[in-house]
Amino acid sequence: MSGYEVKTCNSKKGKAMFATKNYEAGDIILEEDPLVSCQFAWNAAYKYIACDHCMRPLETPEQNVRRLSANPDFVLPHPDCFDMCLDNITSCEHCGVYYCSESCRQQAYSKYHRTICYDPNDLQHPIVVLLEAWKPLHYPPETTSIMLLVRILAFIQQSPNPGSAIATIKQFCHRTMNEDEEILHKLLGEQFGDQLNMLRELTANVVNGDSVQEFLTPEGFCSLMALVGTNGQGIGTSPLAMWVNSVVELTLSDDERKQLDVFLTRMYDKVQEESGTFLNTEGSGLFQLQSACNHSCSPNAESSFPFGNHRIQLKAVKSIRIGDEICISYLDECFLQRSRHSRQKELAQNYLFICECHRCLSESSQPEYTSEEEMSDEEDADD
Ligand SMILES: [Zn+2]
Ligand SMILES: [Zn+2]
Ligand SMILES: [Zn+2]
Repeated sequence: MSGYEVKTCNSKKGKAMFATKNYEAGDIILEEDPLVSCQFAWNAAYKYIACDHCMRPLETPEQNVRRLSANPDFVLPHPDCFDMCLDNITSCEHCGVYYCSESCRQQAYSKYHRTICYDPNDLQHPIVVLLEAWKPLHYPPETTSIMLLVRILAFIQQSPNPGSAIATIKQFCHRTMNEDEEILHKLLGEQFGDQLNMLRELTANVVNGDSVQEFLTPEGFCSLMALVGTNGQGIGTSPLAMWVNSVVELTLSDDERKQLDVFLTRMYDKVQEESGTFLNTEGSGLFQLQSACNHSCSPNAESSFPFGNHRIQLKAVKSIRIGDEICISYLDECFLQRSRHSRQKELAQNYLFICECHRCLSESSQPEYTSEEEMSDEEDADD
């Protein structure tokens, strides 16, 4: 039996998740695969080798570091500490995209891929045209992808019951038209109106059928785009990071430990030098349960991707009692250290809400700014 329930609140919050049993720090609350997920467009352009369905890396840690450092002779110590099975790799017989397993291939094909299977060498193909139009609108750091939206439409179109597929999509946080436009303004920049129209027309060339018509009207497309922009949860996978995680767990002598630390620092320097920010396979996904978790600046849970693919795990980081709301932080560690004013500004800009978590309320007497550093950071961000 699950230890949580999702309720719809009367407040502006929409949905919220509450504990129906007690959890201690470290307890797993839930694990979930996304409804759909997709690698980011720029990330994909850098030839990341990952399963097209679940984003599981399709190269060994050593192959990964060799590619990222552009050094074909790179050798990783302790190669046995992390075992990756690449025996089950398969591909779509029509377009050649790779999957980590037959199960991923079948799931993708039956859920959305049949509708959008295309020859990537056909430069006139509507998907190629759409992706090329999208990329200059959304440079890295990437937060969402037009292909996630395309997969949602394909999922509806391919569903044996499109009505219920549409209802599933509509369960994700819904906003007003004004809020949608605010989100898109942020996502697409000043000219978002024209660009939205262009993206809508190009998307209609990719997926078009009776069941998806309501999402191809100007209003419907705007709202779907905003839904993807706000509910899309970032996903990252990396065979190298998985290897590092297991190698630091090894029992080693002090000398060996030091050697390893030196090695890891050098390795990351090389990789950084050659591949910059594109170290991981990155993308985003729509998670039905996870998306019901609201933000708190003092969260009692956190989510991660411990399986090296798009399956998310929600874990307690503090003790949680029956009836408590389960919250994660939408801000990273670094932002969480900042003042109430900085946190609230970031949340208002990116998620359009004023945080009223316990911590924010208890800090409500704090001054608007707390440090010089934060002030200059914020000025930079406003430029
Ligand atoms: Zn897979
Ligand atoms: Zn295909
Ligand atoms: Zn807060």
